[in-house]
Amino acid sequence: MNPDFSASVQSRLADLIAFRHDLHAHPETSFEETRTSSKVLERLRDIPGLDIRDGLAGGTGICATMNAEKSGPCVLLRADMDALPIEELSDLPYKSEHPGKMHACGHDGHTTALLGAAYALSDHADALAGPVKFCFQPAEEQGCGGQRMIDDGVLENPHVDAAFALHGWPDLEVGHIISVPGAILAATSPFEIEFKGKGGHAAYPHKGTDVLLAVAQLITNAQAIRTRFIDPIKPIVISFTQVNGGFTHNVLPESCHVKGTIRALDSQAHAAAKQQLSHFVQATAANFSIQADLRFIEDYPVLINDADCAALVAEVATETLGAENVVTQANPGMGGEDFAFYAQHVPAAMYRLGLRPKGTLEYPNLHNPHFNFNDDAIATGAIMQSTIAHRFQQKRAS
Ligand SMILES: [Zn+2]
Ligand SMILES: [Zn+2]
Repeated sequence: MNPDFSASVQSRLADLIAFRHDLHAHPETSFEETRTSSKVLERLRDIPGLDIRDGLAGGTGICATMNAEKSGPCVLLRADMDALPIEELSDLPYKSEHPGKMHACGHDGHTTALLGAAYALSDHADALAGPVKFCFQPAEEQGCGGQRMIDDGVLENPHVDAAFALHGWPDLEVGHIISVPGAILAATSPFEIEFKGKGGHAAYPHKGTDVLLAVAQLITNAQAIRTRFIDPIKPIVISFTQVNGGFTHNVLPESCHVKGTIRALDSQAHAAAKQQLSHFVQATAANFSIQADLRFIEDYPVLINDADCAALVAEVATETLGAENVVTQANPGMGGEDFAFYAQHVPAAMYRLGLRPKGTLEYPNLHNPHFNFNDDAIATGAIMQSTIAHRFQQKRAS
């Protein structure tokens, strides 16, 4: 029989909701989550029997282990704590108090749900067959915080047998879960390119160089990478998102700075697309007698859900929410997630947690200035995380 995680979560729900509102009002971006981290730490220190490591991943990461002395199967539950550099446009009473920053990806909700799971599991720690690690990481949005946590040893001592995470999903009604196996989110590589030439008078282009025409051609030609250099059954997307160059109408500028992103659901296609972009950049520069320097800022791998872990999530969701509220087949997305780093090392699954209020057809999307994690999803997230950890250990230990 399952311990009554639901009662544990429900008894603390008002407190958890207040905790999330406080995080929402004080968003902090990648590697700057000092207040968030200290609030989480304060709560974890109140939970008996946790072995807490803080100061991870550059300072703000925390990994707290329950039942550290037990030798049974070890589960890691992960939440991300960072916000985004977006000005919040909501009129919530707990709207962001930090100008230009907001919890537009719902990581305030993820952090709160994991804290709820830590409380619920601590009420029933004796019923667990092994250790559970509560991993609160910085810098999911940028900076590869997950990789930094792994570098700091969160997957060892004790060795993690499986890792689970959730992400709030605005398209999905609250009380629903999506859990699918395989590649669910893309490998992503943000890039920037600096083009440099001589510049010159707009009336005498033959005496100078034209970096803007080069950039224009690159942006157009690069779309051929997807259609002519990559197997068409492998989805990739190349988007140019920023072009900065020029000052006025009669001067050809010396330089132009370009940004964009490459994303793919297959790691080989991703590597091939990056390589081909590099060729295109150099060929374009050569055609226009200018220099170009392409730099990939960081790489997030494809997020691949382990089939058994995804099935376990679906099984727990079916019991918790009813079969009609669980989706086990869904298209992957071209967004990225640094939970992919954990999934490279241990069997892992990330599932989608419904956020759209019942009876509504639309809800602001992730990274939108009106987005807000739905409080009604906190209990489901906390109960799901607790039950998944318990069930995985039971199955593995039996
Ligand atoms: Zn995000
Ligand atoms: Zn996110």
